[in-house]
Amino acid sequence: MTYEPYRRHYEEILGDIRSSGMWKEERLITTPQRAGIEAAAGGGKPSSPCLNFCANNYLGLADHPEIVAAAAETMQRYGYGLASVRFICGTQDLHRKLETSISSFLGTDETILYSSCFDANAAVFETLLGPEDAIISDALNHASIIDGIRLSKAKRRIVRHGDIDDYRAALDETRGARVRLVVTDGVFSMHGDIARLPQICELLDGEPAILVVDDSHATGVLGPGGRGTAEHFALQDRVDLITSTFGKALGGASGGFASGRRELVTLLRQRSRPYLFSNTLAPAMAGGAMKAFEILQREPERIRRLQENTRLFREEIQRRGFRIAEGVHPIVPIMIGDEKKTVEMARRLYERGLFVVGFTYPVVPRGEARIRVQISAGHTREDLERALAIFAEVKAEIGE
Ligand SMILES: *Cc1c(COP(=O)(O)O)cnc(C)c1O
Repeated sequence: MTYEPYRRHYEEILGDIRSSGMWKEERLITTPQRAGIEAAAGGGKPSSPCLNFCANNYLGLADHPEIVAAAAETMQRYGYGLASVRFICGTQDLHRKLETSISSFLGTDETILYSSCFDANAAVFETLLGPEDAIISDALNHASIIDGIRLSKAKRRIVRHGDIDDYRAALDETRGARVRLVVTDGVFSMHGDIARLPQICELLDGEPAILVVDDSHATGVLGPGGRGTAEHFALQDRVDLITSTFGKALGGASGGFASGRRELVTLLRQRSRPYLFSNTLAPAMAGGAMKAFEILQREPERIRRLQENTRLFREEIQRRGFRIAEGVHPIVPIMIGDEKKTVEMARRLYERGLFVVGFTYPVVPRGEARIRVQISAGHTREDLERALAIFAEVKAEIGE
């Protein structure tokens, strides 16, 4: 056996990634995740402080002392790991409690934990649907939904992003299916736009269908209580299954869940492969997530601060002559258009201590290059003003 002939093969692929400009460099952060971080400068230079405007740390909970303490205490009390899947010997009272508290928070029948929302999405479609069934999925749904759908044998119909007429056509086309399932991200991460749930629900009115919403960017973010997209639109009783993550607003560590109709969740517990064949969520993560939910409910002003920071940034960045994708979500895409300019701009912003990400083709369509900013409740007024000033400086330098 020799690996040698394959080395060239993979080197070529890696070469292609580099030459297409798609190579991903990872920046080393030397502090906890928060608004003000330090990133290793490389070449032995000292870490440089910078303002972080590209984390999913929407509520600023990633370094919250109470969550850190809760995770540490849970680890002391329940140990480091369970070395088992849930159904053999991997369920502690803690896991059950967390599931129950998520259900009562969201007003759902039941909840099942996964190691990540990626796993939750890998679980849902294969388990709930067979070849006689059909999935209707938004074209811009998250990669984990796309992969999850690939695992299922159901027929699939991809609808143009947010296009209600296409949803209607898809519903008509799938009328013969035994079960129809409609799935959408609650919030789409590249644009920060919110699923058109009122229109989708109106369309589904009286239709036999299961509505699944992936609220990873909405839990803890949207709605007066942070309950997500359905609460934002006051449509909480209309969504059958929500998948979401602890890896964003809820402390940002890891873990995810599916929450909704009793029969669906029960079947996921019996049959879903990422649940049956993957290790249980570590106790510390469960303890931390529990505390994150507690803080969210105890301090709803965090959500208001996030919404206020978002409104302020969206207004002020436009006043400085930038064009943004309209919306209300803390994901704020600043539309630059030109690819090279976007890359250069992101570089200069970073040089001045503002950490944001530029997205160019093929991550977004050609000519729609953008800088994506993510606002947090953890940003102070000064942080926001500093970020806006840096944007204005760089714009003045390179013209926009
Ligand atoms: C981040 C994200 C996921 C993945 O969540 P993890 O818990 O990190 O696996 C899934 N779906 C959407 C829409 C996301 O934004």
